[in-house]
Amino acid sequence: MTRTLTLLGATGSIGASTLDLVRRNRDDWRIDTLTAHCSAVELAALAIEFGAKLAVVGDANCLPELRSALAGSGIEAAGGAQALVDAAARPVDMTVAAIVGCAGLAPVMAAIERGGTIALANKEALVSAGEVMMQAVAKHGATLLPTDSEHNAIFQCLAGNRLSDVARITLTASGGPLRTWTQAQLEAATPAEAVAHPNWSMGAKISVDSATMMNKGLEYIEAYHLFPVGLDKLGIVVHPQSVIHSMVEFRDRSTLAQLGPSDMRVPIASCLAWPQRMETPLAPLDLAAIGQLTFEPTNEALFPATRLAREAIAAGGAAPAILNAANEVAVAAFLAGQIRFTRIAALVEETLQRSNDAPRPVSLDEVLAVDQSARRQAMSLLETNALV
Ligand code: NDP
Ligand code: MG
Repeated sequence: MTRTLTLLGATGSIGASTLDLVRRNRDDWRIDTLTAHCSAVELAALAIEFGAKLAVVGDANCLPELRSALAGSGIEAAGGAQALVDAAARPVDMTVAAIVGCAGLAPVMAAIERGGTIALANKEALVSAGEVMMQAVAKHGATLLPTDSEHNAIFQCLAGNRLSDVARITLTASGGPLRTWTQAQLEAATPAEAVAHPNWSMGAKISVDSATMMNKGLEYIEAYHLFPVGLDKLGIVVHPQSVIHSMVEFRDRSTLAQLGPSDMRVPIASCLAWPQRMETPLAPLDLAAIGQLTFEPTNEALFPATRLAREAIAAGGAAPAILNAANEVAVAAFLAGQIRFTRIAALVEETLQRSNDAPRPVSLDEVLAVDQSARRQAMSLLETNALV
């Protein structure tokens, strides 16, 4: 049976992996909408290839370019933040949420509010909105399928089990490209070094997040919301081979883990085919060739981001949204050569400290207001060089 699909963030890394799977299974899917931020020419080419009905750029300034690239195709074009929300509200069988950052939050909420089935890669949206998003999921009967590889692993391990039987959920972390570096080396790490992930090929922002370990911090918060077992049952272990994508221990001390190649097409396929399975073009897992799976604790003295995330979710309220917003500003500043690698976590910590009177957001608008105000706070810290 053909199902309809909207892909938010079609021109990114998750977008490309999703479309690769759709391309191999053209009869199973009909693309409704594809979106991008401003990659208008790439977006138009994908919309034409997949016969989309609508293509949307989040930046309205890029709409003229999109229109001209789509000229004669009969595909509708739209631009701007509201157009993304309107696109996500169109009824489809599956929405893949793969915009990077809190910019994806309002569209994800629109898909939730129409009770949709959403494959959620856009972890920043859930980290920022937390309870507001999970309450909307429950209220509107939406289905969230975790696409982040760790959460997809946990989701698979939990199938057929009760949350009340869970003793511990352990997120695995590769440790990123700078895992073995000293403090002095980290001070001098360049953007090129920070995005050179050993196991995964990903967009620039999440690659930097992996290097700082903020990715695991965001995932810790993401897991807290998706799998409500309580913070005391959530842990992180560094596993440099990225073969085990996460694990669940039950109260009888049985531990289930999900293993697979380090390729996002595996968790994306799990979401697209859910509750069934589909083929992927990947090579079988060859454990004898891999040889060793190793594990080590996180090093929060060198990589404080997981501590900041644990503190933010324990504090609750606005703190996770502030953590995320400050991190987005800090990562952009690092990628632009404005701050050192080690200042990313410092800027996040300082922003959290200065915003500790922000009230708990109880609606989408309030989450977005917290996000905007934390961004302003982080930017002003950047501008005054308060942390250099
Ligand atoms: P990319 O940077 O590769 O792609 C991001 C996509 O979002 C692009 O289509 C981009 O459009 C669009 N976009 C960026 N900014 C905006 C904006 N302000 N408004 C609307 N659209 C925007 O990111 P990834 O694919 O790597 O990551 C996407 C999400 O998935 C992130 O939340 C990430 O944390 C998560 N994720 C990614 C994994 C991976 O392996 N890549 C693994 C697990 C989770 P344009 O091309 O025009 O800029
Ligand atoms: Mg992940």
